[in-house]
Amino acid sequence: MIVNEWCMYCGECAGVCPQCVIEVCETGLKFDEQTCEDCKFCVMVCPVGALEKDEQK
Ligand code: SF4
Ligand code: SF4
Repeated sequence: MIVNEWCMYCGECAGVCPQCVIEVCETGLKFDEQTCEDCKFCVMVCPVGALEKDEQK
């Protein structure tokens, strides 16, 4: 996943992730890419459009 500068660390994305892939910490967002099932719920729920799927992975 790619997080852009609009992210305000609200945690909405982490809350909807069915696999609990996203962790919000002081330094930003952490993703467990191995566990991500590519549902894109996090992308859809983000109020500021800060998330993008990195299609290279
Ligand atoms: S929902 Fe969007 S703004 Fe909120 S923590 Fe996730 S990426 Fe950042
Ligand atoms: S695409 Fe789905 S599984 Fe992957 S981080 Fe987002 S909500 Fe979680």
